[in-house]
Amino acid sequence: MTKKIMYDVIILGSGPAGLTAAIYTQRFGLSTVVVAGRTWGGQLQLTTDVENFPGFGKIMGPELMRKMRDHVEGLGVKVLDVAAESLETSKTPFVVTTEDLTLEGKTVIVATGADTKWLGVPNEGKLRGRGVSSCAPCDAFFFKGKAVAVVGGGDSAMEETQVIAKVASDVVLIHRRDAFKAQKAMVDKVMALPNVRVLYNTQVADVVGDTALTGILLRTENISPKQGFDSFDQLVNAFGGKKIDDHQWELPRQGVFVAIGLVPNTQIFKGLDVDSHGYVKRVEERDENGVLKYFTKTNIPGVFTAGDVHDARYKQAITAAGFGCMAALDVQRWLTETGS
Ligand code: NAP
Repeated sequence: MTKKIMYDVIILGSGPAGLTAAIYTQRFGLSTVVVAGRTWGGQLQLTTDVENFPGFGKIMGPELMRKMRDHVEGLGVKVLDVAAESLETSKTPFVVTTEDLTLEGKTVIVATGADTKWLGVPNEGKLRGRGVSSCAPCDAFFFKGKAVAVVGGGDSAMEETQVIAKVASDVVLIHRRDAFKAQKAMVDKVMALPNVRVLYNTQVADVVGDTALTGILLRTENISPKQGFDSFDQLVNAFGGKKIDDHQWELPRQGVFVAIGLVPNTQIFKGLDVDSHGYVKRVEERDENGVLKYFTKTNIPGVFTAGDVHDARYKQAITAAGFGCMAALDVQRWLTETGS
């Protein structure tokens, strides 16, 4: 038999958004539970140095998350290291099920974050964990002295490159355009590394290997002037590649780190409106004078959202924490207004 427990608020997710929301709701005196997911802590658990979270100067991502969790648990909030399997919103109280628990909540905050976006090339699934990775800090050990690549042009790609360049023999950063999206300070750090080279205007067509990665199939449409090569053949030779046709070539590599962004975790939520990329849609509500009343409401009254699961734009630990605070304030107001 499963146990049923009723809460004022069930928080789904244990990244900065979910844990910040929990600090606020608990301090408001609302009974609060956090369903942390199978691996708690979100994206920051996969990063190394965080240098832009106020008050910490420089701190490792997992240490920052540990501090947040200790803070939340120190306030008496129950944090369950289980994954939510469903959210029933057709009637109230809302029902969240996990493998062996049924939780009832007057309100829910969806703060389930976002996970790795994969390339979607044919052999990627087969070679994941066999040379294809999305986490340099987790897997660096396996690539000591090896030739690797990183795919992407954002902050994550810069961070992965910095981490893996410390152990790999050489690193090729593959970006589909010839300008990076990442912060200049992070790009500058990567460009200063002696064992990192960049391939611009280059797409990954596939990853190659039977039981382990041996190469990456690439398509370079226009050679960027930044590369300093006159011809496609020159570029391919300089990287020790194998030409396949006028645009396609194979780069020999033993590892590749995919860092091309994130996909929001919204798969389990039925009835919750999401946009075409899967991000939860917020429904802002104003009073009769046009003053903002609720910022983090969703289409389901009583269900709120916070953090990367709804935020395709800012995606920072600090903005996620801010959204978590707003969702908690909205929950408190909602419970007061509805007399729940
Ligand atoms: P992102 O900022 O969305 O960048 C994704 C990059 O991957 C872009 O350069 C994009 O190319 C490229 N890309 C997307 N789809 C691709 C595909 N199918 N094939 C090849 N390339 C593809 O994602 P992110 O770098 O993961 O960062 C996510 C958020 O976390 C950002 O807000 C970032 O600031 C934050 N973050 C911060 C830190 C830090 O401050 N320490 C570290 C990591 C991440 P285009 O440029 O052509 O679009």
